[in-house]
Amino acid sequence: MRQIVLTADRPSGKLHLGHYVGSLANRVQLQEEHQQYMMVADVQALTDNFEHPETVAKNVLEVTRDYLAVGIDPEKTTIFIQSQVPELTEMTVYYLNFVTLARLERNPTVKAEIAQKGFDKAIPMGFLCYPVSQTADITAFKTDLVPVGEDQLPMIELSNEIVRRFNRTYQTKVLKEATPLVGKVGRLAGLDGKEKASKSLNNAIFLSDSSEEIKRKVFSMFTDPAHLKVSDPGLVEGNVVFTYLDAFHSDKEEVAALKERYRLGGLGDTEIKGILNTTLQAFLEPIRERRAGLKEKDLRGILSEGMRAARTVACATLQEMREVMHLRY
Ligand code: ATP
Ligand code: MG
Repeated sequence: MRQIVLTADRPSGKLHLGHYVGSLANRVQLQEEHQQYMMVADVQALTDNFEHPETVAKNVLEVTRDYLAVGIDPEKTTIFIQSQVPELTEMTVYYLNFVTLARLERNPTVKAEIAQKGFDKAIPMGFLCYPVSQTADITAFKTDLVPVGEDQLPMIELSNEIVRRFNRTYQTKVLKEATPLVGKVGRLAGLDGKEKASKSLNNAIFLSDSSEEIKRKVFSMFTDPAHLKVSDPGLVEGNVVFTYLDAFHSDKEEVAALKERYRLGGLGDTEIKGILNTTLQAFLEPIRERRAGLKEKDLRGILSEGMRAARTVACATLQEMREVMHLRY
């Protein structure tokens, strides 16, 4: 069955390998059979970057470049910028009536981000409410499927709760619940061994990193701190090099054999890092080249076409919402 797919990335930086395995790889497949919308979430990125709007604006183009470079085809996928579809903002305001402060404060992903950003003492409301704006993004397109990393599961849950409340309150079926689709690796670890590679932690390998940067990052990866000599037995669990080999090396048997050798002792960190470096260089080189060949003028053209298509759909949904809310003056 043809489904409607929506995804979003915050342009607070460029996209990284976590995005790729968490959801971009799925999106490249999904565009073949489904109607896919991809939103560059600049309004959301401003919730924790409002003092640096120029960074967000610059990264809108970088993220679009990343999309095209990994194989998103603008003929098949509608790519648009969040702030260019103001209907989403209006929907957000209505949805705020269907969620309590306590409910927002309970969101485990937002909670972790608040602690990480040091917002504990004074949480900007825009930031706390960003899951509600995500509900607008999802519902505006009557989305069926949302390819996301694991950290986004609480957002989809909240979105579906709001949908049910809205529909129940206004005795309507205007809004639709969505299903999350988690990628091959739901949460790719950071280079430093932290559980999630992320832009804001700056512990990720970006799709646009140069060959030298990739090498430097691979050789800085967290392994097993007790594995000092090559002959020492080493730990594979929690070892970031193996996490990335699992995610990106095409030969699973070879990875299994490497793990065995590492566990027994006799395989050095320099050697496994060398293997991972070769793997990642081969994966990222064509992406980097495609990226470099994209012209800004073409990117802007794609985004403004996408805006027109996205607005048409969002406008229609908003109209239906306004009807059931008696906002028909
Ligand atoms: P920020 O630090 O600014 O929040 P981020 O690196 O978490 O950035 P987002 O733009 O918030 O990236 O996330 C976009 C999508 O990519 C989401 O679906 C998210 O779950 C997924 N994603 C991000 N990082 C990872 C990761 N390390 N592993 C798997 N999926 C990820
Ligand atoms: Mg994030």
